[in-house]
Amino acid sequence: MAEIAQVLVDVPTMQTNRPYSYRIPAAWQAQVQPGMRVVVPFGRGKRRVQGFVLSCGDQPEFDGALKEIDAVVDLAPVLNTEMLALTKWLAASTFSFQITCAQTMLPAVMRAKYVKLLRPTTQTPPAVRTTWFGDQPEVPFDQVATTSQAVSQLLRLQAAGEVDVYYQVKNQARRKTQFGVKARLDASAITATEGELRHGAKQQLALLKGLATLNGETVTQADFCQRFDVNPATIRTGEQKGWLQRVQLEVYRDPYATSEIKATQALTLNAEQQVAVDQITQAVTQDATTTFLLEGVTGSGKTEVYLQSMAAALAQGKTALMLVPEISLTPQMVQRVRGRFGKAVAVLHSGLSNGEKYDEWRRIQRGEAQVVVGARSAVFAPLKDIGLIVMDEEHESTYKQDDAPRYHARQVALWRSQYHHCPVVLGSATPSLETRARAEKGVYQRLVLAERVNQRPLPTVSIIDMKKEMQQHAESNFSAPLLVALQDRLDRHEQSVLMLNRRGFSSFVLCRDCGFVLKCPNCDISLTLHMDSHTMKCHYCGHEEPIPRICPNCHGHQIRYYGTGTEKVETELKELLPDANIIRMDNDTTRKKGAHAKLLAKFGSGEANILIGTQMIAKGLDFPNVTLVGVLNADTGLGLPDFRASERTFQLLTQVSGRAGRATKPGHVYIQTFNPDHYAIRFAQHHDYEGFFKYEMRMRHQGDYPPYYFTVQITASDLDEAVAAKRMYQLLQWLRPRLASQTIILGPTPKPIARVNRRYYYQIVIKYKREPNLAATLTTLLHETQAQQRQGLQIGIDVEPLHFM
Ligand code: ADP
Ligand code: ZN
Repeated sequence: MAEIAQVLVDVPTMQTNRPYSYRIPAAWQAQVQPGMRVVVPFGRGKRRVQGFVLSCGDQPEFDGALKEIDAVVDLAPVLNTEMLALTKWLAASTFSFQITCAQTMLPAVMRAKYVKLLRPTTQTPPAVRTTWFGDQPEVPFDQVATTSQAVSQLLRLQAAGEVDVYYQVKNQARRKTQFGVKARLDASAITATEGELRHGAKQQLALLKGLATLNGETVTQADFCQRFDVNPATIRTGEQKGWLQRVQLEVYRDPYATSEIKATQALTLNAEQQVAVDQITQAVTQDATTTFLLEGVTGSGKTEVYLQSMAAALAQGKTALMLVPEISLTPQMVQRVRGRFGKAVAVLHSGLSNGEKYDEWRRIQRGEAQVVVGARSAVFAPLKDIGLIVMDEEHESTYKQDDAPRYHARQVALWRSQYHHCPVVLGSATPSLETRARAEKGVYQRLVLAERVNQRPLPTVSIIDMKKEMQQHAESNFSAPLLVALQDRLDRHEQSVLMLNRRGFSSFVLCRDCGFVLKCPNCDISLTLHMDSHTMKCHYCGHEEPIPRICPNCHGHQIRYYGTGTEKVETELKELLPDANIIRMDNDTTRKKGAHAKLLAKFGSGEANILIGTQMIAKGLDFPNVTLVGVLNADTGLGLPDFRASERTFQLLTQVSGRAGRATKPGHVYIQTFNPDHYAIRFAQHHDYEGFFKYEMRMRHQGDYPPYYFTVQITASDLDEAVAAKRMYQLLQWLRPRLASQTIILGPTPKPIARVNRRYYYQIVIKYKREPNLAATLTTLLHETQAQQRQGLQIGIDVEPLHFM
């Protein structure tokens, strides 16, 4: 039996980025296993922290008196062998703390919450006791330490041993239970009791009849009451009379309890789909770790390929994991997966409550769900024996996490593919350049769906030069041709989708007299106007203030707001097309849970003719009656200081265009732009991914950018700009001799948005092809910057960053 546990403690600093040895109390030695959470004392004083047992053994890693484990949180490991190995790899490859990685993999409710408590000791004088505790055995520290005076008094008492400060670890996860009903009488006893009932005791009779049907099973009370038309008071009467027993039943919070699933059948595949499914299925059968790139134009039926390949994995007794960019934005995808696999599906995404996430996670962990659909963090779903991993829209940047650990779900998926010996399918109409280049080299196997299902044509795309339009109709968001087309669709009872590109674009307040723009006091960025809350908001730090009526600079009255919001577009369109029925979909109208799905369902039912929205409408929508797509401003993202600006614009335009003409009626797309000749827009117009790929690869080659180079971004931030800048110059001096001479180091430069939340940001970008010393160098850097972190300087390391803002 193991006496010593190696524990990873919940203190994310580098000094603790290794396990600590703790003695396991004799009573628990038989139970404690790797992957369980425990509560342990840490450091001096009475601090208690949560930790994960990494391994158990007989030899401590350090001689001397070992502290003991305080409590065991779990009855069974919450991190299995695979997950424990994954935390290690993730920490090393993203230069983050192993504890942070472990916590990232688990539902948020399983993260420990700490409460600081004040307790009396054996030496507490009665007067002190009454003052601080009244008749309570302990009190929350924050409740009594409300003034600095109180704090210093408490510190004195603590030093004298008259009170004790204690940290308690609180487990936040709550299981949901319901009462269940179980009969205590057998069939003959029930019949006998029925005979003894007084006349007219209808409720009790109904109860007994109900109990007679249970056959020893337990059903929830709610269910029972509904089925047999019995009220809860009668159930309690039955309990008192000893007819039944009420028991606690654990129930799962089912996020989709109210939505009905329509079961669907596998469709007959076309030739291209069949090839793809055959290849993937073969890899599943052979336990091959092949990575496929499924490159299929919009409407080519990629989803059907995913579904049938996943079905093949299930048929072999394996499980399947499907990742989607942001599930709350693509309710149609969830419906399709649930339609095919029903109750076997668990769903994980940010739209669920913490309790729902926890329940879905446990269903997966217990093997009760064989298919998982989810957004980024679902890549950590504790599925066993994975047969296939699918990543839809693999080019989406939401797959990369912005905070530590800065992982890309694709990298994690590939790691798990190696672990489980299963294939990965990366699907997209517009693969990222990195992925497409890897397919070119044969690292990934490319599968192509070149045509839309049933040879439906891709929509015709017209480009509208807004510079010319503006000369004719000043200040309208709608060009003449787009308006004509919209009217035409109204007449023909067909539907239209309009997208307002919000990337790199916002509504701001400007004074016409002096040109003053209202900026955030904490950040280097203008504030955005929000009509719903009637405030100006900072999108980086959350600062909020009232909309000014008078210019704060010149006190003039000519304050105007510029830029266009979806709301303004909607208002304008209502004036232009008074007969249209419009649905608006943006952050404001979809904030409420389920609002997104509701608006889409409403549009799908044909209640509205026009759907106006931000980027969120570009993905995954499949509505047969949509024959027109309009992009109001195609180019706002092109000007961003990011080498992926063209790639993102091309992807977005291709994707939103793909919403048109998906069924029998042909589609038409209008793209309004001030850069009608930009290559990203031209290639999108011709649905020419290959052309775009070749052109953009040349650009990347010339600029030494990915996929020709790998990149790492290092940022430093400090409240003092000079400190951040100075540290980065020192870092540059330190890095240069440690890295290969062919490696390019850019910077230090202030980040394009140099000040966020009162901190100044500086960055260095390392571009390299082969750099054997990099990992060791960056790890050293993390170690050495520990001391400085405590003085307020923060260093961040981002491997293959997707944003340079
Ligand atoms: P993509 O994801 O490639 O844009 P979808 O998977 O949404 O395309 O498929 C587009 C439409 O074609 C969907 O309505 C889907 O049900 C339909 N579809 C897909 N495969 C077939 C098939 N083999 N036969 C008939 N319809 C299909
Ligand atoms: Zn701000």
